[in-house]
Amino acid sequence: MTHGLPGIDEARSAFRGARFVLVLSGAGVSAESGVPTFRGAGGYWRQRHFSELATPEAFARDARLVWDWYLERRTTVKLCQPNAAHRALAAWAQRAAAGEAPPGRLVTQNVDGLHERAGHPDAVRLHGSLWRNACSRCGAERDDDALRHDELPRCAGCGALERPGVVWFGEAIPREAAAAASDAASRADCVLVVGTAGVVYPAAGLVESARDRGARVIEVNPDEDYGRGERGAFGGIWLRAGAGIAVPAVVG
Ligand code: ZN
Repeated sequence: MTHGLPGIDEARSAFRGARFVLVLSGAGVSAESGVPTFRGAGGYWRQRHFSELATPEAFARDARLVWDWYLERRTTVKLCQPNAAHRALAAWAQRAAAGEAPPGRLVTQNVDGLHERAGHPDAVRLHGSLWRNACSRCGAERDDDALRHDELPRCAGCGALERPGVVWFGEAIPREAAAAASDAASRADCVLVVGTAGVVYPAAGLVESARDRGARVIEVNPDEDYGRGERGAFGGIWLRAGAGIAVPAVVG
């Protein structure tokens, strides 16, 4: 299906010839698995805008409400499956670990865990995970796949309420993830941007810094209005196709 897709041959050879690849994935990849994008389509839940729910202040005001929203998101995501893009990226990471493909790092803005479910070994999660809890006092984290909490979960260490382990409005990217992402950007001579408008900082800054050092940028985005010209938002190779079509063709 990708035969004749403009830019595909150039993208494949840029990827295969790379010494280190940074892959940046965003909401568009999840959307192809049916995960709702809360920033699109109004972004309301129980008459509240998600920007009123995804904040430390909302949690302090009504932890039950915020948890119910996140538990509903877990339930929705659990019914979604990784798509061809998730699977191709996981297979690439595994081949790279065996020395059979260019090495690199996947950095994702997604919190749904679909990269991990596809078998990705070491995705860097800029915005945390729906499937992690973090203590609201001491910060201790743990995996949690519960779909309901009759009582709000509490930290085993200090007893304070646990909160969803995701990055909220006004919060910084977790330090370890930020460091891993900027390390990957500093090493990359090829950047593959998938399913994100790329205009959201700090992720856009990662792409720009790699590009400014000479890295080739490959963008996958089916939106005709995307970018500022024929070469996409970052002046590289723009593949106008869905992630599930274009990503396997580039990295497979
Ligand atoms: Zn604690």
